[in-house]
Amino acid sequence: MKYALITGASRGLGRAISVKLATLGYHILINYAGNTAAAEETLQEVRQAGSDGDLMPFDVANAEQTRTAIEAWQDAHDGEYIEVLVNNAGIRRDTLLSLMPAADWARVLSITLDGFYNVTQPLLMPMQFHKFGRIINMASVSGLRGLPGQTNYSAAKGGLIAATKALAQEVAKKNITVNAIAPGFIKTDMTEGLDEAALSKTIPAGRFGTPEEVAAAVAFLISPQAGYITGNVLSINGGLYT
Ligand code: NAP
Repeated sequence: MKYALITGASRGLGRAISVKLATLGYHILINYAGNTAAAEETLQEVRQAGSDGDLMPFDVANAEQTRTAIEAWQDAHDGEYIEVLVNNAGIRRDTLLSLMPAADWARVLSITLDGFYNVTQPLLMPMQFHKFGRIINMASVSGLRGLPGQTNYSAAKGGLIAATKALAQEVAKKNITVNAIAPGFIKTDMTEGLDEAALSKTIPAGRFGTPEEVAAAVAFLISPQAGYITGNVLSINGGLYT
């Protein structure tokens, strides 16, 4: 059995990635924060795609919850390991920095950066032992160019990109690749409420992307054929920022 852990898999990009990886034969570990009904829908779609999965709820920003969940899985799966990790969980709390409450600064950074540490760190030793692993970190165009109103989110995603590049160099010899994806505007709950028509005019492709377009890139980056691609950031943004 090949296992893939997708954080933030109950909705949006995480769900589309789960379904895509299910078509490739992965058993999907569906992490989410609290929305069990949505996570159950992801599991249904994973099964319809011909594979299976398990719900794995925990707050990636919470070190204790994350450690407990991952250790429980590892204890129950002696000799097996999670070979694909997609660090996808994320939130945005947009406002100008001059008006930003400290809690919004801290929460956005914690889910992205503490979340990256909490989930990735315990999976690295098993990947190194088995001499194969694939880690994908969901960054953003915001982490590449910085976006006004998103100083917290830009800092978090920029930090995640730097962590991607550093870790890639640490584990390359063990046949583990670490890459980031930087989506532009993708149609999910996160972008609901934005003025899609107005924003689409600023995108050379003239439209928002779909979660499936991001999932396809994840499938490529985890494939054996992508084994020499590491420490990279792949933009998926319709030409918004190049
Ligand atoms: P979304 O539709 O809002 O879904 C967010 C997912 O993250 C949900 O599954 C949610 O679980 C989970 N989550 C939130 N906080 C969590 C936590 N503390 N621990 C575990 N899971 C948590 O978002 P999305 O658009 O799919 O975005 C996915 C990733 O892509 C994020 O990192 C986002 O920053 C990034 N991204 C998105 C876009 C875009 O245009 N959509 C663009 C660039 C980057 P619950 O359902 O339980 O709340």
